Amino acid sequence: MNLAILGATGSIGASTLDVVGRHPGRYRVFALTANGSVEQLAELCRRHRPRYAVLSGVAENRDLARRFREFDAELLFGAQALEAIARHPETEAVMAGIVGAAGLASTLAAVRAGKRVLLANKEALVMAGPLMMRAARESGARILPVDSEHNAVFQCFSDKKFVRKIVLTASGGPFRAAPLEALASVTPEQACAHPNWSMGRKISVDSATMMNKGLEVIEARWLFDLAAERIEVLVHPQSIVHSLVEYADGSVLAQLSNPDMRVPIAHALAYPERVDSGAQALDLASIRSLSFEKPDLARFPCLALAYAALRAGGTAPAVLNAANEIAVEAFLAGRLAFTGIAGVIADALAAVPAGPAEDLAQVMEADARARREANKRVMALAA
Ligand code: NDP
Ligand code: MG
Repeated sequence: MNLAILGATGSIGASTLDVVGRHPGRYRVFALTANGSVEQLAELCRRHRPRYAVLSGVAENRDLARRFREFDAELLFGAQALEAIARHPETEAVMAGIVGAAGLASTLAAVRAGKRVLLANKEALVMAGPLMMRAARESGARILPVDSEHNAVFQCFSDKKFVRKIVLTASGGPFRAAPLEALASVTPEQACAHPNWSMGRKISVDSATMMNKGLEVIEARWLFDLAAERIEVLVHPQSIVHSLVEYADGSVLAQLSNPDMRVPIAHALAYPERVDSGAQALDLASIRSLSFEKPDLARFPCLALAYAALRAGGTAPAVLNAANEIAVEAFLAGRLAFTGIAGVIADALAAVPAGPAEDLAQVMEADARARREANKRVMALAA
């Protein structure tokens, strides 16, 4: 199977290449993309020999192109190249592993082209869920969730008619039990030190604010076509139970594994078959106990904001996502306190009224307005 890995230099990219490398002959690395990590991408091309490489954030450069030719890779430049790879006739499966709104156009291009889409880039679905799902119905694209919770639900989900609700588990992140007064002064390094998962910086901060779970509630709404009322969040600090599906008869099905992204990635790659992911076998006897608790909305206001945006509908989730990206970037750059993130998002949601999200232009306009509002707010707080 010819696989294009969008966001190959990231955490999801690394895990995907690890799984793929265990099954030579089954998957062919057809294309690898990065935004600006030239050296890392060159090293990946040396090892995996893709037919195409993309530097989406770099302008055309002959010397670079020549360098990549040594690895037999044709190097393409600019954001358009991501879409060209996503819909390339020889691309069979696309790992959508770019972080944030930057992944929307290429993910949508893959869906429109009817590819097998392994979806890690949850922000794309948050911004344009109805568009994406409609495009998949029209093209016949198969969207396979890579996000561990959605992959778990997917594995436990049979007939929607009989599903009462789904429960997404959340680790609670590094600040689940920290004193509330301490949150105002936490550093980016502390926020990115996730207790169970090693991930990119943006999603790590999202996990610490629990906006990640909020985005995932919206993601689940579209992937499984369930109303917000039927999607619950449960804090489970060990990250062993990845999510649950409750049925009409009271049965609850769950998927368990060690917290290792190679498990959902291998599932999505091989579905409906199964392949070795490289993850350690789960040893429940040594883990001994699993615990669960309700999320604390005073500690995690971002979760409530995400539910509110989902209920408001239209472009509100795109506004939520864009404002969150600006706030997280500002926090990581030391320009915004951790506890300022939720306020920036709430203000953007109030300032940009939800409109229809029937085409990409409406979504991108809401995204741009939300970024302007959020930036204004960040600057006002810094002043
Ligand atoms: P990383 O930050 O580790 O990697 C991001 C990747 O996207 C890099 O390859 C980066 O390239 C590329 N990229 C960044 N900005 C742009 C841009 N503007 N245009 C094109 N490419 C860009 O992120 P993760 O791998 O952690 O996350 C990727 C996605 O997967 C996110 O949506 C996240 O929510 C989701 N996800 C991640 C999980 C994880 O365990 N990491 C778990 C579940 C979901 P470059 O190196 O050149 O900057
Ligand atoms: Mg997740």
